[in-house]
Amino acid sequence: MSTSLMPNYKPLPVTFVKGEGAWLWDTQGTRYLDALSGIAVCGLGHAHPAVTNAICEQAHLLLHTSNLYGIAHQQRLADALVRITGMDSTFFCNSGAEANEAALKIARLYGHRLGIKRPTIIVTEGSFHGRTLATLTATGNPKIQVGFEPLVEGFSRVPYNNIDAIIPHPDIVGILVEPIIGEGGIIMPDADYLVKLRALCDQHHWLLMLDEIQTGMGRTGEWCAYQHNNILPDVLTLAKGLGNGVPIGACLARGSVAEILTAGTHGSTFGGNPLVCRAALAVIDTIEQENLLQRAQVLGEYFSQGFKKALAGINGVVDIRIKGLMIGIELDKPCTQLISQALEKQLLINVASERVIRLLPPLILSNAQADEIMSIVSHLIREFLKVPVTEG
Ligand SMILES: *Cc1c(COP(=O)(O)O)cnc(C)c1O
Repeated sequence: MSTSLMPNYKPLPVTFVKGEGAWLWDTQGTRYLDALSGIAVCGLGHAHPAVTNAICEQAHLLLHTSNLYGIAHQQRLADALVRITGMDSTFFCNSGAEANEAALKIARLYGHRLGIKRPTIIVTEGSFHGRTLATLTATGNPKIQVGFEPLVEGFSRVPYNNIDAIIPHPDIVGILVEPIIGEGGIIMPDADYLVKLRALCDQHHWLLMLDEIQTGMGRTGEWCAYQHNNILPDVLTLAKGLGNGVPIGACLARGSVAEILTAGTHGSTFGGNPLVCRAALAVIDTIEQENLLQRAQVLGEYFSQGFKKALAGINGVVDIRIKGLMIGIELDKPCTQLISQALEKQLLINVASERVIRLLPPLILSNAQADEIMSIVSHLIREFLKVPVTEG
């Protein structure tokens, strides 16, 4: 769009200037339905009054003093996160990648305290953990790594959803995994995958580190996806939906791991400042007050039944994967063109892994909006699959 920006993004030819709930308006005043929530960020929709008010109130009082001083809202937010996740302590940062960086540093310190000189972290194929050097190394997608070698040492990769592929080794200190793979195409593991990972980590004293940056904050119908399995991780990372649009990430830990990051071992200038913590507190309050975890479950069921009906018997629809408001519809061929076709119909969607239509609508969606999303997406899929496949 502009030569003064680095060309690392390829934005669609639309610019939004205003939002309300699941609606967005562009510079021309055209209204769009948002089935992506800024990639699972705006779970409460756009301009939610509780978040807006919290931000405005705090902006009038104080934005930032640094972590050299106490921050009351940071303490309150940590208390709230500990309560809803079952974890014991929190470190705040500004993004998902940074939350995972903290997790990786915790795992390395944990290893060194056990006398392991080359701590190794198990990661999976198909995963996405961020774009910093360590997190792109952890990411299971060669496209994200190419050109950035040498990668960071101390990772070992296994296939996703395959416990038997994990071969114990004395250097292993932990496993970093997404409970549901998001960027990699909404891939759901077997129902007992996390339970088995938990047991394996217990057996070997490895840290179970769950990247819930996309699945967390109500997205799957619980605060965190592991809560469907009644287990607890040792380390948990959150970001995206935590601030509903203000940049905030969190790395939480449990038991003795909760005290590994001692003074001087890690930090962030902006991390957990009064502004973002007020916003995140408003997010948690609102999810509780508006009963949005249950709403996400109900909507997930609604989408599940709706899409199964609308797409029944269509050759070329390989799979429909839905957990709460994480929705993946896998087609039998690349379908990235559907993104701009949906945009022409004033609907925001995404395609992950080239063949998976990915929908991450806000938790405040109405049934009528869900109907509209299903109607447009089903229509586009039908049209698309009639097009003969061209080679090349
Ligand atoms: C988005 C995402 C990240 C990276 O978050 P950023 O805020 O972009 O750094 C990490 N892990 C998962 C699972 C994600 O979906």
